[in-house]
Amino acid sequence: PAAPSLPAGRPAAPGPGGAAPLAELVARDITAWFGQRKVLDRVSLTMPAGGITALIGPSGCGKSTFLRILNRMHELVPSAQLAGEVRLDGEDIYDPAKRLIDARRAIGMVFQKPNPFPAMSIRENVLAGLRLTGTRAPRSVKDDLVESCLTKGGLWQEVKDRLDSPGGGLSGGQQQRLCIARSLAIKPRVLLMDEPCSALDPTSTRVIEETMHELAREVTIVIVTHNMQQAARVSSQCAFFLASHGTPGVIVEHGDTRAMFESPRDERTSDYVNGRF
Ligand code: ADP
Ligand code: MG
Repeated sequence: PAAPSLPAGRPAAPGPGGAAPLAELVARDITAWFGQRKVLDRVSLTMPAGGITALIGPSGCGKSTFLRILNRMHELVPSAQLAGEVRLDGEDIYDPAKRLIDARRAIGMVFQKPNPFPAMSIRENVLAGLRLTGTRAPRSVKDDLVESCLTKGGLWQEVKDRLDSPGGGLSGGQQQRLCIARSLAIKPRVLLMDEPCSALDPTSTRVIEETMHELAREVTIVIVTHNMQQAARVSSQCAFFLASHGTPGVIVEHGDTRAMFESPRDERTSDYVNGRF
């Protein structure tokens, strides 16, 4: 199949070769429901180009829901409803005239539980997104892409001699790094990560954290984490979500990570980042 063409006015098409420019993601007045239940209430957040934004807060306050809204996964749940807007470099990702695949391709997602295609080779896992988006490239370009994505994912050295073995044979931490490499292969402009290290050993966690700063040079990152040290280590800005007593989730405080950890403005933020609830 021919590579799908992108609507006019878009930045460089993702795919082998050209690097896409860094993009800013802006969510404005996001309200979300599951059925009658409102789970987010007018949440606004700017995720700056090339920044690493950490979403923190207790379970159930809507962090994953917010993340899924950022790449239109929210609408996969039949009972889900949404108000507000999400703009990637000014373009409304929910514009009915835009194709869903373009939003998904521009905004990649890595989940808590690593989900490589287990029977597919490591190499084919990395290239899987190209197939899905109908992007064609010669073998040598694909080889380069596999190496560069696995390098960026911090996995190349460990797997370079067994690229044809199945992805499912890797350890959990390696599988997660393979998933990161797979996301990068279609050159997303934003990478969403929902507790990517929660299920991993400390060594893999450290490798992933180390790769993130490098990744932020080419992709805007949004990460949900329960690990406050991780948020402090990796993020440039932080947003603290809270849903108290059955009310919908809101952002209580957001801003520069260091400022938020050292001198939070809200007492609830202070309590949370210091482990008091
Ligand atoms: P967090 O990631 O902060 O733990 P979630 O975004 O997963 O929070 O959940 C926010 C709220 O939305 C929770 O009360 C949760 O039970 C509810 N919720 C999440 N997903 C669904 C769903 N598919 N259907 C119904 N309710 C959901
Ligand atoms: Mg969650």
